[in-house]
Amino acid sequence: MRHIPRKRFGQNFLVDPQVVHNILQAILPLRNDILVEIGPGLGALTKPLLDSINHLHVIEIDRDIVSCLTQKYSVEKLTVHSSDALKFNFSTLGKNVRVVGNLPYNISTPILFHLRKFSKNICDMHFMLQKEVVERMVAEPSTSSYGRLSIMLQCHFEMEQLFTVQPESFLPAPKIQSAIVRMIPLNRKMINEDEEDLFSAIVTAAFSKRRKTISNTLQDYLKPEDFDVLEINPRLRAENLSVAQFVAITNFITQ
Ligand code: SAM
Repeated sequence: MRHIPRKRFGQNFLVDPQVVHNILQAILPLRNDILVEIGPGLGALTKPLLDSINHLHVIEIDRDIVSCLTQKYSVEKLTVHSSDALKFNFSTLGKNVRVVGNLPYNISTPILFHLRKFSKNICDMHFMLQKEVVERMVAEPSTSSYGRLSIMLQCHFEMEQLFTVQPESFLPAPKIQSAIVRMIPLNRKMINEDEEDLFSAIVTAAFSKRRKTISNTLQDYLKPEDFDVLEINPRLRAENLSVAQFVAITNFITQ
């Protein structure tokens, strides 16, 4: 297929067979898996996935790519969802869904936040993302990469950076390095569904002024004496608090 890459859809196509092989080795697809690929593009991952499993779902926003895929593959083998992945209801695919994708960099954070809502339906996810974003996702407290993204995802998923991918592995080559991340929903949720909004608001407030102490940034939520009950030092900054401590603050407020 002749296709001019569209910048607005973040189209950097993977052209390195070794990287494709390494990604497939990380996913290890099984014949009967319920697998959905976000952004199949020109099929770098789609083709080997189709060779490995009975049936594949793909979600693609670019109508030209959609029509090419629907012409090329039978509906028994491939279901093409002509849709924006940010609006896609992943629960319609069933339970134990495996999600994969070389994600368009311009929607990487919103898609991760969207997928959080479906963690009950998801078995695992493997994504190619900007290396810098993956580092923020897996970051530990008291490191420069640790922030809102780390906390909001770590309270739902166990995450692991698998390997990095160089710009030359894509056409056109992006300016940045990429990395593959594995995300597995936690068996036990750290935060209840009805506390999610408050948890998110607390994390956002705490990181609103990164250099300030939490006694300052969380003054709308906690009184000075509350820090003693929580056994959290009020002079710490948001970046020093663990995910469990943010959960404890949320539970304390709602109890
Ligand atoms: N999987 C291919 C590969 O590895 O070469 C293409 C990856 S390319 C980085 C991203 C793909 O996602 C493109 O096919 C693009 O059209 C598609 N895409 C971009 N935004 C999307 C969205 N919101 N929903 C679904 N697909 C999207």
